[in-house]
Amino acid sequence: MADMTREKCIFCAIIADEVAHYRVASSDLLYAFLDAYPISRGHTLVVPREHFSSLETTPEMIIKEIVENNKIFENLLILNLF
Ligand SMILES: [Zn+2]
Repeated sequence: MADMTREKCIFCAIIADEVAHYRVASSDLLYAFLDAYPISRGHTLVVPREHFSSLETTPEMIIKEIVENNKIFENLLILNLF
């Protein structure tokens, strides 16, 4: 698989607000937005703010933040409740 560069990365373009999107929540490390092609209502993607070319090169602390980040998911839960 070709290495995706930051310049060609759609997620980096979204975080830089270069691509139209609906932001759901954000933190210092993570950014959450509605998927452009949702498979269900409210389908949200949570990505690191910093570009990593693959899961293998993503620092463990970032992965832990995605899995365990309460602030992002508290916001998602609030949005789903109202
Ligand atoms: Zn990127």
